[in-house]
Amino acid sequence: MAVPLQAKCTPSPITNNIPTNHHPSILRVTCLITTTTTSHPNSVKLVVVNPPLSSDPTLQSTWTHRFWVATGCTTVLVSFAKSIIGGFASHLWLEPALAGFSGYMLADLGSGVYHWAVDNYGDESTPLVGTHVEDSQDHHKSPWTITRRQFANNLHFLARTTTLTVLPLDLAFSDHVVHGFVSAFAFCVLFCPQFHAWAHGTKSKLPPLAVVLQDTGLLVSRTQHMNHHRKPYNNNYCVVSGAWNKVLDGSKVFEALEMVLYFKLGVRPRSWTEPHSE
Ligand SMILES: [Zn+2]
Ligand SMILES: [Zn+2]
Repeated sequence: MAVPLQAKCTPSPITNNIPTNHHPSILRVTCLITTTTTSHPNSVKLVVVNPPLSSDPTLQSTWTHRFWVATGCTTVLVSFAKSIIGGFASHLWLEPALAGFSGYMLADLGSGVYHWAVDNYGDESTPLVGTHVEDSQDHHKSPWTITRRQFANNLHFLARTTTLTVLPLDLAFSDHVVHGFVSAFAFCVLFCPQFHAWAHGTKSKLPPLAVVLQDTGLLVSRTQHMNHHRKPYNNNYCVVSGAWNKVLDGSKVFEALEMVLYFKLGVRPRSWTEPHSE
């Protein structure tokens, strides 16, 4: 039997967990849906949060963002070219290939360690990484926002870091094995926010290549990363390939580090104070 529904919706601005200056266009629409059958009176409260409008300036790319992404990509390409040219000159391909694989694996491990650190320690006033600490908390509150960020907006911070790190290495070294490692590591670090955004994407809306890379395990899968987004957000921290997640979570490395920091410094990680998902 069809059950008629009555819906009463009240839009109101979100003020409790997302700063309105960051997301001025977000409205929370609370709908109270009530069935009208007398035999099974039932009441369901739905909370629907509208996605931010694409016009939100905090999610859009600026020319400064694009500049850093362009310079970051250029320095990585120069490093990769030095590795390839050195391979042709020396006919040695195994060493730079292994160095590149090491860079790819180390970038995944680094992404997990950094993600664990900013998720659990510090606040917005922490030197150098305060913005990332704040961003990680915002990301847990509204994970879909990363899919609305424009490309350069999402990548510019790590692109700037990549530029300032890889440019001196491009100028100082010509060893093709070194550049095999540097180019792979820097590429994964620079594009890490994009891999993370794809992990939040809807399969049907992702580029086919991204889906293939996720399904083959070369990039972190959507399922694996969704497990991170369950309170208390204390697992699956790696967001490049996710290859290290099983190792790190299985061996409880982060839990051991948290205990050491607590007993040595008296600092509690944020994951200890988060309620668990039901
Ligand atoms: Zn997190
Ligand atoms: Zn995420």
